[in-house]
Amino acid sequence: MHNEKLVRQRLLERKGELLVRAGEVHADITRASGPLDKDFAEQVVQMENDAVLAGLSESTAAEIAMINKALRRLDDGNYGQCSVCGQPIDERRLAALPHSDHCIRCAEYAQR
Ligand SMILES: [Zn+2]
Repeated sequence: MHNEKLVRQRLLERKGELLVRAGEVHADITRASGPLDKDFAEQVVQMENDAVLAGLSESTAAEIAMINKALRRLDDGNYGQCSVCGQPIDERRLAALPHSDHCIRCAEYAQR
């Protein structure tokens, strides 16, 4: 079984990375909103707001949307379940791609 706390942390960290990278391009906008809160989750939310204002690249915005969906699935208790066939997603796949919501078979099928 995956460790939900660890998965959540990994997802938040990845999201933070993406937002920081997006924020670097528009550092002036990020700074203008004042110092970041100490709490990391709050920081991520604040950075996300800044980054949305700054205009994320499409691929970055898409990955962040996937991460948000995965975080919601963690809250709902159906994280790690394929959203197509309902089967559990392979742990190795989740380890490599924590925001994945398709099992390997459905993902391959979707690419065909
Ligand atoms: Zn599936």
